[in-house]
Amino acid sequence: MSYVDEVIAQVIEKNPSQPEFHQAVKEVLDSLRLVIDQNEDVYRKDALLERLVTPERQLIFRVPWVDDKGQVHVNTGYRVQFNSAIGPYKGGLRLHPSVNLGIIKFLGFEQVFKNSLTGLPIGGGKGGSDFDPKGKSDREVMAFCQSFMTELSKYIGADTDVPAGDIGTGAREIGYMFGQYKRLQNRYEGVLTGKGLAYGGSLARTEATGYGLLYLVQEMMKCHGEEMTGKTVVVSGAGNVAIYAIQKAQQMGAKGVTCSDSTGWIYDPEGIDVELLKEVKEVKRARLTEYAAARESAVYHEGRGVWAIPCDIALPCATQNELLIDDAKQLVANGCKAVAEGANMPTTLDATQYLQESGVLFVPGKASNAGGVATSALEMTQNSERLSWSFEEVDSKLQNIMINIYHNIDNAAKKYGKDGNYVVGANIAGFEKVVSAMNAQGIV
Ligand code: NDP
Repeated sequence: MSYVDEVIAQVIEKNPSQPEFHQAVKEVLDSLRLVIDQNEDVYRKDALLERLVTPERQLIFRVPWVDDKGQVHVNTGYRVQFNSAIGPYKGGLRLHPSVNLGIIKFLGFEQVFKNSLTGLPIGGGKGGSDFDPKGKSDREVMAFCQSFMTELSKYIGADTDVPAGDIGTGAREIGYMFGQYKRLQNRYEGVLTGKGLAYGGSLARTEATGYGLLYLVQEMMKCHGEEMTGKTVVVSGAGNVAIYAIQKAQQMGAKGVTCSDSTGWIYDPEGIDVELLKEVKEVKRARLTEYAAARESAVYHEGRGVWAIPCDIALPCATQNELLIDDAKQLVANGCKAVAEGANMPTTLDATQYLQESGVLFVPGKASNAGGVATSALEMTQNSERLSWSFEEVDSKLQNIMINIYHNIDNAAKKYGKDGNYVVGANIAGFEKVVSAMNAQGIV
């Protein structure tokens, strides 16, 4: 059995009931075969892959909190500090009922390579809880966040581990967590990113993941002789990533015609009205039915279905495993030219393979959604300098980072004879830097 197959089998055996983690490890290691096979003896002797797939530290803790009626609830908190070879652990906190250790590990593992691809000095981690902020009052969300941070604060710090937002963790949650950290540690430091502008946040961080996604897609299209102007873009999700992806697509002259949440989706052939979407999702925190009610051109459908709308570019921006093989077939049949992941691992392995075999340009999230974490790293730099850069300065650095990421993954794919295979390119480019740092630091 090859070293890669051995390690994949070990991961499955040692981490039962964690299918998302198995999926992420398999996707990465499978695409690294070319590099690993060339160095198999050395890597095996150093147990390099075993160290790569085993988090440096995994924290699981109780999060008790009291609701507005005086009822006590208990959630589970997680922080997986996966790999610090190239910098302090960095990665978001997900608050969603589906959160479990396997999901946090898959996200943390992906984060290691993504952070490496940004070219910035950040290691990989991820955390969160099975707490659901939906339907809770601000006071209840604060009670949860304070309790969560009371435990987490023992393990993080501006030079150790710097969490950020993710699904369910937006500006409100980051604010409550930052306040509690400062109170407990008596230190005003950049321990979290995604902070409000009044207390150390960076301009353009809110927009960064969605904007970065489009900067990368634009560069890729340009290199394939295509312009963004006039393209039809289908987007899933209606959260932070989706909203700013649609906004940037429209600014580039393309038309974003769909969005979705966990109950239904919108088709708006006139183009999504981003201001209205922001009002419904960011201000009212309401369902998409409110968007449809306020806009004549929009049609609301229950369930899932955005991938059935004909498009040039598809951007899955909601959650993992939301673009399945049948969706991929539909996209190909409708002439879709490019799929770039805004979310983390939204495309299943078989769907990815089908898209690639059908000649669709496919960019994995670890490359295409890296703009969020890259701008978080820029927020860390500003905090360390005790300075704030202008929107234009941050946005222009973000553009450069995304253009560089595209060329890095493209070159890495070419170097190994896999021209146009950006999954292989992203994994190899991310892996090479982490491995070089791990080797330099000895067996730790
Ligand atoms: P948000 O919480 O702002 O939005 C998530 C969106 O996806 C919402 O519309 C939500 O609908 C929908 N959604 C969530 N879970 C499900 C589900 N199980 N089924 C269907 N729809 C679902 O999160 P973000 O926009 O921040 O994150 C979206 C994705 O992007 C995630 O995979 C995240 O890890 C990834 N990402 C985010 C970054 C960031 O900077 N924010 C950076 C890099 C990656 P509803 O409101 O109904 O729950």
